[in-house]
Amino acid sequence: MKIFKEIQDRGHEQVAIFHDPNSGLKGIVAIHNTVLGPALGGCRMWNYSNESEALVDVLRLSKGMTYKAAIAGLNLGGGKAVIIGDSKTEKTESLFRSFGRFVEGLGGRYITAEDVGTSIRDMEYVRMETDYVTGISQALGGSGDPSPVTAYGVFIGMKACISKKIGINDFNGLKIAVQGLGHVGMHLCEYLHDAGAELYVTDIDPVIMGEAIEKFSASPVDPKEILNMDVDIYAPCALGATIDKKTIDQLKCKIIAGAANNQLAENELGIELKKRNILYAPDYAINAGGLINVSNELEGYNRERAFSQAEGIYDTLMEIFHRSENENISTNKASDLQAEDRLKKIGELKSFYLPDKKTFKIRNA
Ligand code: NAD
Repeated sequence: MKIFKEIQDRGHEQVAIFHDPNSGLKGIVAIHNTVLGPALGGCRMWNYSNESEALVDVLRLSKGMTYKAAIAGLNLGGGKAVIIGDSKTEKTESLFRSFGRFVEGLGGRYITAEDVGTSIRDMEYVRMETDYVTGISQALGGSGDPSPVTAYGVFIGMKACISKKIGINDFNGLKIAVQGLGHVGMHLCEYLHDAGAELYVTDIDPVIMGEAIEKFSASPVDPKEILNMDVDIYAPCALGATIDKKTIDQLKCKIIAGAANNQLAENELGIELKKRNILYAPDYAINAGGLINVSNELEGYNRERAFSQAEGIYDTLMEIFHRSENENISTNKASDLQAEDRLKKIGELKSFYLPDKKTFKIRNA
């Protein structure tokens, strides 16, 4: 694999590869862009079948974080880490503390958090070695579970969607199909139910399905049927890539607005949705509440401020929708351009983030 070519093509600033023979750590941190501030992004632990797969994943994910922070108006850059290994059998305290020491060594240019395969507990080990970690429990001064803020952000984003697409400002009687009733989906249902929406819900877990039916008088839908529903909004809150070249033909909704990451199997599907007159709220713009929540930890966590910042998602989406209309481009393309514009403007002042030496602390001195 030609590493410099890969980095250059995607516009990365830095890639750090770590190995610690004692803990067995094999990790990569990719810092995509720090024009806006330190690179923040989760640490994924995954049993990659080979090293290039791990590298491609960390490069792809870290670039996504740059766009997410930029569109959310945060002064953060994009980064991500991967640890190569089986998260079910190979996690140890020494592995995460070793990872924490490597993160500390980056001097604050990268700030880590939990992600697929890592937990709040793991981040607490990381915290023993570095301050450059977010997403730890509220009991330890962190921001805890980001899902309520993510769900609130999606709810606010849906308001922008119904205003733009249907010309209304309330959810009374609107039909909404929610796919996935996990951490975010359940909170979202609560907001929508309280606002008077008619909910159609699906999950592969019958227990949480029962809970949603009871709490929100929701109508159950078979997981295979959710995309076929004749509803105002389809809210993907489970897995990514639910909209692909085949499933796009099933859609009967007016709006797609949900929390899932990477909802479109291919970016080009955004223009197909526009042609079909379906308003798509770009995933990384509408689900930024989680990132907004952890970013608040850096200034001393304040839950009220996090919720209030998530309200900015309304204006962000409106700007994206206007650009998409004015330039006749997909909403996901419009979102990318908005994020790139912000990076360009700030990038004229400084090309990358360098931590202030005066703020350096020598731990355990
Ligand atoms: P979660 O794991 O708590 O919930 C996902 C739910 O989807 C589970 O209940 C699961 O049973 C269900 N599910 C899985 N496959 C399904 C299928 N085929 N059909 C129907 N239901 C299915 O996850 P979460 O934290 O609620 O996150 C949901 C999505 O939002 C994920 O894609 C996540 O990456 C994204 N996201 C979450 C946050 C956050 O703050 N948690 C922030 C940004 C993005």
